[in-house]
This record gives sequence, C-alpha cells and structure tokens, in this order.
Amino acid sequence: MPEPFTSATNGPEDDAPFRSRLSFDLDVDICVVGAGLAGLTVALEAARLGASVAVLEGRHVGWNASGHQLGTVMPGYSLPIGDLIERVGIEDARELWAMSKEGADYIRAAATEEAMPGIARTEGVLEVSNVDAGERLISRLQTLSEDFGIEVEGWQVDRVRDQLGTARYFHGIYYPRAFQIDGRKYIHGLAAQARRAGARIFEDTPVVSIDPSGIRKRIVTPSARLRASHIVLAGNVHLGAPLRRLSETLLPVWRYAAVTEPLGGRLDEVIAFKGSVADSDGIDHFRIIDGDRLMWASPETTWEARPRRFASVIQRRIASIFPRLGKVPIADTFGGAVGVTVHGMPQIGQLRKGLWVASGFGRQGLNTSAMAGRLIARSILWGEDRWKLFAPFELVWAGGATGRVAGHLIGLWGRGHSAAAGALARYREGARARERIREARLAEANRQAGTRPPRRPPPGAPRPVRPQPPRQAEPQGGGMHASQESEKIRDGSM
Ligand SMILES: Cc1cc2nc3c(=O)[nH]c(=O)nc-3n(C[C@H](O)[C@H](O)[C@H](O)COP(=O)(O)OP(=O)(O)OC[C@H]3O[C@@H](n4cnc5c(N)ncnc54)[C@H](O)[C@@H]3O)c2cc1C
Repeated sequence: MPEPFTSATNGPEDDAPFRSRLSFDLDVDICVVGAGLAGLTVALEAARLGASVAVLEGRHVGWNASGHQLGTVMPGYSLPIGDLIERVGIEDARELWAMSKEGADYIRAAATEEAMPGIARTEGVLEVSNVDAGERLISRLQTLSEDFGIEVEGWQVDRVRDQLGTARYFHGIYYPRAFQIDGRKYIHGLAAQARRAGARIFEDTPVVSIDPSGIRKRIVTPSARLRASHIVLAGNVHLGAPLRRLSETLLPVWRYAAVTEPLGGRLDEVIAFKGSVADSDGIDHFRIIDGDRLMWASPETTWEARPRRFASVIQRRIASIFPRLGKVPIADTFGGAVGVTVHGMPQIGQLRKGLWVASGFGRQGLNTSAMAGRLIARSILWGEDRWKLFAPFELVWAGGATGRVAGHLIGLWGRGHSAAAGALARYREGARARERIREARLAEANRQAGTRPPRRPPPGAPRPVRPQPPRQAEPQGGGMHASQESEKIRDGSM
C-alpha cells in the first residue's frame, strides 16, 4: 500500500525516538498491533497496570488518521444518539455515553501543557445546523442534558451568526466541556508516555500473520517472532493480512483537511468563535489555529488520493461558507483513512480468548479510542467486562469493493441531500424575510392611503369556505375520479 501523502510525514515528529524495527524474537504479556490512538492508549494503560507490552507498527507512530486529525474532543459516537437509544434502549445508551465521556475526560487529564508541551488546549465546541430545525434541536438538547447529563447550551440563530459571520448556519448546540488540542502533539505525547510507562514501540514492523490459538499466541513480522498471552488488533482499516476478515468489516473513508496561510485580522472579523465548529450533517469541521489560520476538514472519498488534490476544493468550500473571507491561500493539506462500521459504533471487545479488537472509530476517534484503550487494558489485567456493552454491535461485513462503491454513493447522496436541505432552508428564510418586507411596505402604503389592509386569518385557522358551483351529475358506469385512481395506485391494483 502506498504511503499516504500527508504533511506530517515531514514534520518535527520525524525526530521522535520510536524508530527502531523489531529484529529479535520477544516474549510479552500483550502485543498491540498498530500505533494509532487506539493501540497506544491500550499500551499506555496496560503498561501502567504492570504488563509487559510491545506495540508493532507497520509504518510509524500516527502514520494514518491518528496523526492527521483536527484534535476536537467531544463525548459521544458517530452513531446519532436517537439511533443508539433505539438500538440498545435508554439505560445502555446512557451507560455507553457515560463511557464515551470518560474517554474525553481521559484525554483532558493526559493532554496538559506540563505533560505534552505545546498541546494548546482550548475549550468549547459548537455543533451547527444546516437547516432551520429549532424543534429538533430542543428535543436533542433535552436528551443530551436531561437524559444523558451532558453539559450543553442551545444557541439561537442570531447568536450562531454573530459568532460565525455566515448565513449558512441556523441553530447550534454549544458543548462548553468539549475541547480541542493539537492532534499531532497528542499522538506523539501518548507514544512518549507509553514508552515512559515501559511499553516498547517498534516502527517499520508490520505484522504479517498471527496464530491466536493456544495460551501463548504467536505473532509474525518480517524479521522477528513474538509470543504473547494477549493480542490487541488496533490496525484500523490497514490491518490486512493478520485478520483480513476483520478489515473487511470496515468501510475505509479518506477524509482530507487543509490549513490556510495566516489570514491576519480579517479572520477575527468574520469568525469570532474560538473553538471547533462542526455541522450536524458531518460535512464541514473547522477551527482557528495559531491565532489567525483556519484548519478545515471536509471532502471525503472511499479511495486513497493525494490530499493536495483537495486544496482548491477546500478553498472553494471556505469561500462558499464565508464569502467575506474570499479565496484564502492554502499552506498545507493532509488526510487519513477512518474506519466506518455498518452500524456506526466502534468495534471493541474480545474475539476469542486473548484476542482483542479496538477499531472502527470513524470520524469521532479521539474520545472513543481513549475509552477503548482503557476498557481493554482493564479487561485484560483486572478482568473488567464493561466492554460487553458493545456486544450488540457485531462485526458486520462492510461489503468489500462493492461496499466501497455503495458507501461512496450513499455518502455523496447524504452530503448532496444535506446541502440541498441547507439551500432550501436558506431559501425559505430569504423568502420569509422578503415577505416581511413586502408586508411592511404594503402596510405603509395602506397607512398613507388611509385604507385598512385585508386581515389575514391567524396561522392554523380554518380557511373560509368558498361558494362551490353546482355539481354536475356523475357519468353512469364510465370515468374514474382522481381520488379513486390514486386509491388504486396505493392498492397496487393498477
Ligand atoms: C482529517 C481527519 C480529521 C479528524 N478529526 C478528528 C477530530 O477532530 N476528532 C476526533 O475525535 N476524530 C477525528 N478524526 C478521526 C480519528 O482520527 C480516527 O478515528 C482515529 O485516529 C482512529 O485511530 P486508530 O488508532 O483506530 O487508527 P489509525 O490511526 O489508522 O492507526 C492504526 C495504525 O495501525 C497500523 N497498522 C495497521 N495494520 C498493521 C499491521 N498489520 N501491522 C502493524 N501495524 C499496522 C497503521 O499503520 C496505523 O498506524 C479525524 C480523522 C481525519 C482523517
């Protein structure tokens, strides 16, 4: 598989001291496959609990999505809360959300300036709606705050637009306890903490096969063999050969992002909000970094492409959402593949005795992978079984190549549908504003002419009945009324 084209591969983290390839045989308690967010959190937590741990990474720490994310940390999952309740019931949904919040709290505790210099944590995340859906927002706010105990505030359209200088968005949900960090600093900070706790991290060491039968499991790499009591598969969509059937339960979705050149004071004039902003349809996700640059994630594909190809797409996207910013210069582009499951929930649990999986974290992988890492480490070392709450979300085949095409089409449709709904909502809003102006003008003209305007019935009042022309006699035995016709269509008898 070709190297993803990311800016981070040439970043300062290249000096990070995890470079060695495993070239000798090793015996450990736990072997973790993959040094992304999930694998490194398992390693850190298991090492802290006293286990001997080896992490085997085919490329380098944070090579894929984990080293190329936007650093927004929120509670919850990719699966919408209503769907989760429907699937597992309110009690388990509440427990699952509490666990996802623990994942966010875990990162808050780990990502301090002292522990990870330069982590640049800032508070507050705003989720905005592309459509005028105030009632839906109120019901969601109630579920989040009353049923799930999440601190949230509902923002009216004016407040959203005051903070984000655009008419594209309507209402918002503000999460004051959600936050953002420098995502690249976090993954490398996590690796450094895991090493300090005693975990050994080997890069350039792909796992080519595993034999999970027996008490001591075998792991094969090109230049060494390991034996371990537990294997944790945290390879996400690139896992491949060690358990191809597991990789095939994930739909890989490549997500691309860009960082602009410094935009100076004009960025402040347009965007006052300092935290992350994500729209509720999962199309755009952005925030200000370094004071006056915009970091923006938006386009997605179900095949791998050069992030640089999307620079102009993101540039146009920014201009369409924030016309006052115009065409902003792009300094950098990056991207990575996230693993999307059929049910929208992560894969966390034990596949057979001593064989664990932590993957499928989708677009919301920071809090969920932190939660998974801690759950698995504690299950292995303390015998906890909270991971069983994820049992209803089985490993479902994602459809292979056909699934990718279908996934892409569904994604395109969903995004197109959301964009169209947003455009319609803005059109309706414009039409309502024009109608208000027209009525005001009419009232003024009537006032000047001294006439009283006709009074409108209040909304919902019964319409006045117009006198009907006398009905003609029905033709005998012949023609069919439209209502009868449509009845037949509904019956399927035509
Ligand atoms: C542009 C973008 C922005 C994002 N923004 C956010 C955000 O703001 N907030 C958020 O919560 N989430 C965000 N995400 C999602 C998040 O990054 C992912 O969900 C998360 O990083 C997944 O972590 P992981 O450890 O499961 O997988 P990965 O990061 O894919 O790590 C898996 C690792 O395993 C290695 N591996 C695979 N197979 C093998 C093998 N056989 N042998 C050895 N090593 C192997 C790979 O090389 C890789 O390094 C974003 C994602 C992208 C792409």
